[in-house]
Amino acid sequence: MITRTQIKTFIEAGMLADAFGVPYEFRSRDSFTAATMIGHGTYDMPIGSWSDDSSLTLILMQTMLEDKQYATFMHHAEDYMMHGAFTPSGEMFDIGATTRKAVINFAEGAAPLDAGDRSEYANGNGGIMRVAPLAVTLRNEQDMTVRRTTIENWTKLTHAHERSLIGSFIYVELLRECLLGDNLTEALRTVQAELKRTNYAPSEVALFAPIFTPDFAKTPRADIASSGYVVDSLLAAVWLNSQADDYESLILNAVNLGSDTDTIAQLAAHLFAATHHNLVLPGKWLQQLIMPDDIQHLISQFAQAYAAR
Ligand SMILES: [Mg+2]
Repeated sequence: MITRTQIKTFIEAGMLADAFGVPYEFRSRDSFTAATMIGHGTYDMPIGSWSDDSSLTLILMQTMLEDKQYATFMHHAEDYMMHGAFTPSGEMFDIGATTRKAVINFAEGAAPLDAGDRSEYANGNGGIMRVAPLAVTLRNEQDMTVRRTTIENWTKLTHAHERSLIGSFIYVELLRECLLGDNLTEALRTVQAELKRTNYAPSEVALFAPIFTPDFAKTPRADIASSGYVVDSLLAAVWLNSQADDYESLILNAVNLGSDTDTIAQLAAHLFAATHHNLVLPGKWLQQLIMPDDIQHLISQFAQAYAAR
């Protein structure tokens, strides 16, 4: 069972984390202490402004409600990039280089599934940061191969290297298992077994292997990188979830890692919401989140369409 409220919280948990992290993005670890939600900072945006992570996640949800076509997603992404669609205040202030390049490739005529960069150097977290809704839309799909292809294709639109595809696959599968009722430890075990049934290059899978080791939670903070590299970001998100028992601590811990604060907080927050089915987001933060009516409507529509009836 998954309710409308759970889906709404799952999405808003990510947006709130993103907005919390935005003013601190790129600041180096321990050069600051985030204790509360603030505005301005890195992009000089008002408090509660969420970034590309949320915009592109919302675009995926919009596309799922419309026609589930990759081209529709890319058109909306172009509208985001050029006209500030799907933003808190009508202004696009952040987009990753790989995503930007893919949107331009598409605008210049590339097929959506050929628009993403396939190079090893295009393994930022711009793919993984927008695929969380797939855990909701795919939760009743029993065929792992179908889920895997779906997750890969939606990632590939911008990030087409195998490492990014594996990162998204692991992340969405973890979210899905947790939404279905597993705790994180159980979900990690399941996903580790699933990876053995794929034909991903072992050297690529090995990069993510630390999260599946029993002592990963004991990794010292100093050994957890918080860059925008997909491997660092996913490892950090899983590690953060092994450390915090409540949403507020999770977000503070995530943002205080520094560097890619918004995306790491957002990835960690979706995972936390997936594992805490009765999560209530902190009201003092939520009331600061910029939530235009059309975005609120989109979240409600998505929740209604995909909740168990
Ligand atoms: Mg961002």
